[in-house]
Amino acid sequence: MSDMVEAPALTPAQYKSGYKPIWCPGCGDYTVLASVTKALAQLQRPPHEVAVVSGIGCSSRIPAYTSCYGFHGVHGRSLAAATGLKVARPELTVLVASGDGDGYSIGGNHFLHACRRNVDLTYIVMDNHVYGMTKGQASPTTEPDWDNKLSPGGTGIRSFHPLVIALASGANFVARAFSGDQNGTADIIAQAIRHPGFSFVEILSPCVTFRPEQRDWKNLVHPAAVEHTDDAARAARRIMTDDGFNIGVLYAGNRPVYPGGAVAAKQSVADLEAEFAL
Ligand code: SF4
Ligand code: MG
Repeated sequence: MSDMVEAPALTPAQYKSGYKPIWCPGCGDYTVLASVTKALAQLQRPPHEVAVVSGIGCSSRIPAYTSCYGFHGVHGRSLAAATGLKVARPELTVLVASGDGDGYSIGGNHFLHACRRNVDLTYIVMDNHVYGMTKGQASPTTEPDWDNKLSPGGTGIRSFHPLVIALASGANFVARAFSGDQNGTADIIAQAIRHPGFSFVEILSPCVTFRPEQRDWKNLVHPAAVEHTDDAARAARRIMTDDGFNIGVLYAGNRPVYPGGAVAAKQSVADLEAEFAL
């Protein structure tokens, strides 16, 4: 009989910090947090081998609510910080959390180039089609006819289409999830983490305070009736014409990951510190 004692399996609760979230009651971001902790438990990645990086906004509070390493950065710059971190510390699993304002407006340019570079990051965007933290302004994904007191009659501006833009820019994995489907979202996040390269998970996550009508999303979402494809153009065409509520993995590609080959073989920060006696 072996004397080896197996380490107990990590549970989702072990990925939660002691901080109590301050989101509004009913906010979709609570269940996204639960899905993130479930996904990490599925993968059994110890919290000290995971970093969660965010920008600014309601969704960007997530790092503080996990027991992983965290970085709550400046508005729209989460992908820039995460890219530097992953290149310097490739052994870490790096999750990046954002919202539709932070990620697609202030951080829109970083989004394009993160897709293009294909660094091995998992980008989770909690999309509620509104700036929640600053009290309800229209965001890039707000419907043009959304009538509210800050944009009477609607903005009239065409919505940004994050999934299609991600595909056009070179993202290596693209999925849509719904916060109300906690287990399904956990599975998608786990798949996104496992998939090499830049993985993008757009999560429909209702803002019950400024977009209470989004409570109805639970009646609109349905599984994506598509086979996984590695044909980005085909996936983009399908997403352009879907109803916006089909959830699942919509594209899984096999582009080379950056840094690759000789660049990946570069020394780690620890090696450089040892070599230069820093
Ligand atoms: Fe959630 Fe909206 Fe409240 Fe922010 S304002 S915590 S997005 S419900
Ligand atoms: Mg938002």
